Formats: sequence, structure tokens, C-alpha cells
Amino acid sequence: MTDTTASPAQRRALYELDDELTELRALARDIAQREFRDLALDWERNGEFPWRNIALLAETGLLGVALPERYGGGGGSWLHAAVVLEELGASCYTTAMAALGELGVQTQAILHYGSEEMRERYLPGVAAGRVICAICMTEPDSGSDLSAMTTTVREDGDSLVLNGRKTLISRADVAQVFVVFTRFADDAGRRSIGAVLVDRDTPGLQVAERFSTLGGEGLYGVVFDECRVPAGNLLVREDGFRKMLHAFNGQRCLNAAISVGIARGANDAALEHARSRVAGGQLLGSHQGIRWILADNAIQIEAARLLVHRAAAQASDGFPRRYESAVAKTFANEMALKVTDNTLQLFGGHGWIDEVPAERYLRWARYGPLGGGTPHIQRNGIARHLLGEL
Ligand SMILES: Cc1cc2nc3c(=O)[nH]c(=O)nc-3n(C[C@H](O)[C@H](O)[C@H](O)COP(=O)(O)OP(=O)(O)OC[C@H]3O[C@@H](n4cnc5c(N)ncnc54)[C@H](O)[C@@H]3O)c2cc1C
Repeated sequence: MTDTTASPAQRRALYELDDELTELRALARDIAQREFRDLALDWERNGEFPWRNIALLAETGLLGVALPERYGGGGGSWLHAAVVLEELGASCYTTAMAALGELGVQTQAILHYGSEEMRERYLPGVAAGRVICAICMTEPDSGSDLSAMTTTVREDGDSLVLNGRKTLISRADVAQVFVVFTRFADDAGRRSIGAVLVDRDTPGLQVAERFSTLGGEGLYGVVFDECRVPAGNLLVREDGFRKMLHAFNGQRCLNAAISVGIARGANDAALEHARSRVAGGQLLGSHQGIRWILADNAIQIEAARLLVHRAAAQASDGFPRRYESAVAKTFANEMALKVTDNTLQLFGGHGWIDEVPAERYLRWARYGPLGGGTPHIQRNGIARHLLGEL
């Protein structure tokens, strides 16, 4: 099994990226700023999936950076994925969200828990930008509390048959494969949850309603009605709930990396404004009150980035660990809300205008604390860890 955890050298280099990661960051930043940043609002407005950007990320090796080379990837780690997603978050939320599944938990769950046949079927297409993976956990009556999930799967000869309804699913309109969290019908245990892969064209899978969102991207309902897949599509059953929660730490960590990117993009815009805008007869950046806002933003961003890199670099058993991911996510999500709000204020009334790069960062930052487990849920997990209850 290929190990996608960081090398010892990368672990040591927590405070400074090594040469390879520095180059990766420069490449991702260049592409994101040159190709994605100026069109970010257009993607939000037209609500389309940014295929063009995904193709570019695939061509440059960024999309498959954390997949093994034998599946067309770059052989990198969660740290590589976090570095790329920070850059995408700093320039274009739509693109960061589009790439999150390919760089994150869906594909890594297939890599670590899937059969070789599954890996060969999906992963080269993911690295090449042809296969988009959706993840289906949330249900109308089961969000934070996954154990309340009612979607079931039953065995029927050589098939698995799924029934249930998922909601708020990203990229369901374009995904070729869905990683579906489900309860095993013949297992009464509270933790009888695992995951099954469902291809898009499977009879009984229906992408239902589309919800318009604050970030512009669509979220979808997905219905499974006697949806029959081959038994070989079983991704995890034995110890499934623990394994899928472990995999989900990857989502937490990368969601946090996007928050860091969003905050950094906002503060970069604030710095540029502070250098050019005159107020009260002097540059905005000459007012002490404004200088302290810029400095506070930087302090918060630096701290969040270190937490994210720590969580990514300390991955073990294939995925970041729960405590480090929860700490990084909570801090980075809340930090991004504060920094982007500070930034909008620094633009004054002009910050309210959508063409001015301030309001978009505040909207983008709102995603972090909603997806991937809310700060309340992270705090519950952190407290359980501290009290030795896990
Ligand atoms: C942009 C976006 C993309 C998403 N993409 C996906 C996707 O691709 N796939 C997917 O499966 N889901 C996705 N989701 C859904 C997301 O994972 C859920 O919204 C999230 O898990 C919260 O569940 P909920 O909305 O049902 O809120 P609830 O669980 O109903 O929670 C409501 C509020 O109560 C708080 N709360 C709940 N339980 C507790 C508790 N025990 N203690 C303290 N506070 C609590 C929560 O923190 C929250 O603030 C997405 C959401 C967003 C916003």
C-alpha cells in the first residue's frame, strides 16, 4: 500500500516548506493568480462547474498531486494537497471547492480502503481531471449527527441495493462516482455505517433538486431508490464508521487549508488597498489603527497555517489525525471569518461592491464552518480527546 503520509523530512520542516513544496506552492500560486483569480466572480455567477480550471490543474499535475504515481498522480502527501488548496482558496472559491474532492477524502478513501480494481478504475481519471467524485453523507435529518443516518444498503446475491436520500451534496451534477455513506440493513449496531461506491449512470440513482447558495455553486439532493450496484463496489464495511470518520479528518484538514487561503487572499487585497487609498490626508496604511488590523490578520493567518500544516504532516494510517485536524479546522474557519470581515471594513463602503475583492472573501469564508463538521462538532471532539473519552 502506498503511504501518502508526509516524509520525516517534511515533518521536520513544519515551520518552513522544503524545496519541493516551495516549488509546488509557487506553481499553484502562479496558476491560481494568473488563470483563476480574475474570473472568480464569473464562475460564481454562472454557477457552472469550472471544467476549464480542473483541466488546467490536471495538466499541471496539481489535481493528482496527492495520488501515487502509478495512478497518474504526483506521489505527494496531505501536505501537498493543503499547499495547493490554500492557493486555490486565495484566488477562486469555486475552483477550490471543485478540486477539494479530487485532492481530498473521496479519492484518498478509494486509495486506502478500496480494492485494486477500484483504484485502477477511478484514480487515473481523477488525476487526469476526467473523473469527479462526490461524497454523500448528509441527509435531510442527519447532518452533524451521522449516526442518525437512515440510508440503507442490503445484500442481494452479487449486488448491493441502496435506498435513501442525501442532501446538500457538492458537485452531484457533474460527478461520475459517488462515495455514499450508508447503514448496513442487516446490522442493528449503532455504528453499522460504511461506504459504497455508486457510478453516476446506475439505475435508481437520481440527482434531484438543486439549491442555489451563498458561494454560487449548486448543492444537490441525491436519491437512491432500489439502486443496485455490484457487490465489488463495497468500499468499507468492517469497522466502517471508525474508518470513514478517520478518512473524514482529511476533509477537515483541507477545508481548513482553504480557509487559510481565503483569509490570505483577503489580507493581500487589504494590503494593496492600504498602500494606495488616501484617507484623512494620508495613505490608509499610515493610520495606526489600520496597520494593527493588517498585522492582526497576518498573525492569525500564520498561526492557522501552522496548525493546518501540522495536521497534514502528522497524518498516520493514511489520513490526518482527529485532534490535530479538529484544532486546525476550528481555528482556521473562525480566523477566516474574522480576517475577511476586517478586510471588508478596511475597504469601507466600497467593500460592499461585488467587483471590489472584499465581499467575495467574506462570503467564501462562511463555507468553512459549515462544511466538513462544524466548529461545535469539532469542539465536542476536542473536549472528548482532552478528557480522555475517545
Ligand atoms: C458549501 C457546502 C458544501 C457541502 N457539501 C457536502 C457534500 O458534498 N456532501 C455531504 O454529505 N454534505 C455536504 N454539506 C453538508 C454539511 O456537511 C452539513 O451541512 C454539516 O454536516 C452540518 O449538518 P446540518 O446542516 O444538518 O446541520 P445540523 O446538524 O442540523 O446542525 C445545526 C447547527 O447545530 C449545531 N449542532 C449540531 N449538533 C450539535 C451538538 N451535538 N453540539 C453542539 N452543536 C451542535 C451545528 O454545529 C450547527 O451549527 C455541505 C455543506 C455546505 C455548506
